Amino acid sequence: MRPARALIDLQALRHNYRLARELSGAKALAVIKADAYGHGAVRCALALEAEADGFAVACIEEALELRAAGIKGPILLLEGFFEASELALISANDLWCVVHSLWQLEAIEQSAVAKPLKVWLKLDSGMHRVGLHPKDYQQAYQRLLASGKVARIVLMSHFARADELDAQATAQQLAVFEEARQGLSAECSLRNSPAVLGWPQVPSDWVRPGIMLYGATPFEVPQAEASRLQPVMTLQSRVISVRELPAGEPVGYGAKFLSPRPTRVGVVAMGYADGYPRQAPTGTPVLVAGKRSQLIGRVSMDMLCIDLTDVPEATLGSPVELWGKQVLASDVAGHAGTIPYQLFCNLKRVPLEYIGE
Ligand SMILES: *Cc1c(COP(=O)(O)O)cnc(C)c1O
Repeated sequence: MRPARALIDLQALRHNYRLARELSGAKALAVIKADAYGHGAVRCALALEAEADGFAVACIEEALELRAAGIKGPILLLEGFFEASELALISANDLWCVVHSLWQLEAIEQSAVAKPLKVWLKLDSGMHRVGLHPKDYQQAYQRLLASGKVARIVLMSHFARADELDAQATAQQLAVFEEARQGLSAECSLRNSPAVLGWPQVPSDWVRPGIMLYGATPFEVPQAEASRLQPVMTLQSRVISVRELPAGEPVGYGAKFLSPRPTRVGVVAMGYADGYPRQAPTGTPVLVAGKRSQLIGRVSMDMLCIDLTDVPEATLGSPVELWGKQVLASDVAGHAGTIPYQLFCNLKRVPLEYIGE
């Protein structure tokens, strides 16, 4: 059997969820959209269900998958509904629903839902992606109340730059939010992972941690709270071939690597078809036989090459960690010019194995 695997540590997932609650002192929706950032939404939800205040996903398809797997707790649809016809299912399955646009508000007013909805009313406080304009916010709140279709409203917004710890933008967004919600007595929710970890002064009755649950830092710089996270996913494989090259020999497609010295090359069963980033250059860290080494040459579809010259104990069959507890996904992402979010979401073909149930 091909040795490529992603090991998912559910104990670490629970640790990170508890850390989000501890740091925020708030209720926490575990964000498990996009198949729990590639970690398997159903398994992650089951592992958290006993203690989680609820879950958040991107769309009703993802929510119904969780309901079908027996998840009974609150599930928030982060983009609400895409068509008014989803409202009946949202009500029947007891899903919570973001309202980010006036057309959604009108659809709710005109709907005939059997049970009143739980709505998270989203303000555009400056990110300018989705959310109601501040001038429309209070009136939207009153219209939802008056519609008779809504049982409860949570006030929410989303930060564009909370991962930049010295940027003014987060404080400015908070000020816009505070002004827009003046006089409304409802719970609020603002904080994503970087805001949970780095912005303790931002109020939130509910926080929405995503990437931190999976143990990856959202920051580009070291940060005290983020260093308490435990990586959940270990992407691993094995050395399937070893060869010795004299100095001056090319390795891989495009001969992008030329051995600068006599080089022992290990070939690993992992490639971009598994989601390992093709952009990762020579020098990207890997762990082989317990020692740090590096990628050499271009990543191909099913294989990549690593330098074994200084790891003489590494041999055919030696275990390789592409990212995990020793080689951080954020570190690999930095080398590849992307973010750990994308590394996790891009994972495919590799079987997921769960530990720490
Ligand atoms: C994805 C998402 C989150 C989680 O973001 P992280 O940076 O992964 O913590 C929170 N809120 C909303 C609205 C989202 O779409």
